[in-house]
Amino acid sequence: MNNFLQYNPTKLYFGRGQIEQISNELKKGLKVLIIYGGGSIKRNGVYNDVMDKLKEVDAEIHELSGVEPNPRLKTVRKGVKLCKQEGIDFLLAVGGGSVIDCTKAIAAGAVYDGDVWDLITQKAPIERALPIGTVLTLAATGSEMNDVSVITNWETNDKLGWGSPHVYPTFSILNPEYTFTVPEDQTVYGIVDSMSHALEHYFHRTFNTPMIDGFIESLLRTAIETGPKLMKNLQSFEYRETMMYLSTTAFNGTLMNGTDGGDWATHRIEHAVSAIYDIPHGGGLAILFPNWLEHVLEEDPSRVKQLAVNVFGVDPAGKEDKQVALEGAAALRKFWTSLGAPSTFKDYDITDQDFDSIVEKTFIKPGVGTYKELNSENVKEILKSSL
Ligand code: NAP
Ligand code: FE
Repeated sequence: MNNFLQYNPTKLYFGRGQIEQISNELKKGLKVLIIYGGGSIKRNGVYNDVMDKLKEVDAEIHELSGVEPNPRLKTVRKGVKLCKQEGIDFLLAVGGGSVIDCTKAIAAGAVYDGDVWDLITQKAPIERALPIGTVLTLAATGSEMNDVSVITNWETNDKLGWGSPHVYPTFSILNPEYTFTVPEDQTVYGIVDSMSHALEHYFHRTFNTPMIDGFIESLLRTAIETGPKLMKNLQSFEYRETMMYLSTTAFNGTLMNGTDGGDWATHRIEHAVSAIYDIPHGGGLAILFPNWLEHVLEEDPSRVKQLAVNVFGVDPAGKEDKQVALEGAAALRKFWTSLGAPSTFKDYDITDQDFDSIVEKTFIKPGVGTYKELNSENVKEILKSSL
């Protein structure tokens, strides 16, 4: 194992009725900016629950709505302006990963004198941020308990992941009931994204990590067992609860303890695809990840073979390693398509016409992948196999 620091300051309030905690977490009389998306929280009652609690703590309530899926820089800038104008004390994100990511960027931008894009592109250091709380409504990204955010600049077609310890939420409220209304497609994308986070962590090159590898395999097996049941019963508290805890754990630092952190090339490629086509993150990952597995197993099948055997139950008896690994990649693709996820770019009408720009955008920051560092030819091969 590598030396590591386990640090995660986010208080997680998990379960039914945890919205009550807002009154304990927020001091009386704060200026609170509540940030949300296109209105799902108004249709399913979450907005009213949150408002009731904010009124109990005599908050001066301000609102920013309309955060897009794949949140955009222009909305972040709007939020930053609002915070500066109104002297906001606290940001409350109510939504999925997009709302939370947008809130993190607003939190950092609100206490910075220049343009918030400087912080996202790491041209300027992030030295502080306004405090954030979240009420999660979609199990997918883990953003509710990590220091990561992904923002798209539509002026330059760049979708950038960034992070800072200053943007960990101080608390997050996770009531599985709040995810009952997540539609079928977004539920699938959530399952794919959380499993992809687990997979990215799994592909590390650190010696002697049996516990973390076992955690990841168990998390993936749980998703494989629960995912199909949830798709048949979207209102099941039991299955929503399992997936909600699973998605948070898949990307809150736990799965990095003692490793080099994992590969993350597939996320980099997916962000580049989304930056041009604005497709759902989970949909892009469902297409790309099995192809990435097939790409890396050509050189070194050992880890994909371990995944195939320990997670997908592939029988290795009498087979070459590469064959076992190939069966594992195929099993992952089959599992995701069985849930209703896309499996090729055709599902989004993506052709090879923009492959050069996708490759270029994948390398917007140097170093793509650690388990296997990809060059631009490799990325292009993975894109071609996704057609
Ligand atoms: P999302 O983009 O936040 O939400 C997708 C859709 O689901 C929205 O239309 C939203 O509608 C709807 N929705 C959310 N909760 C709902 C509910 N309870 N009932 C009905 N509809 C609901 O999805 P996401 O997958 O959570 O976030 C994706 C973004 O996160 C991408 O930009 C991705 O790159 C990023 N990401 C971040 C991290 C990280 O660690 N920070 C990790 C992976 C991915 P409304 O807008 O109306 O609410
Ligand atoms: Fe992701």
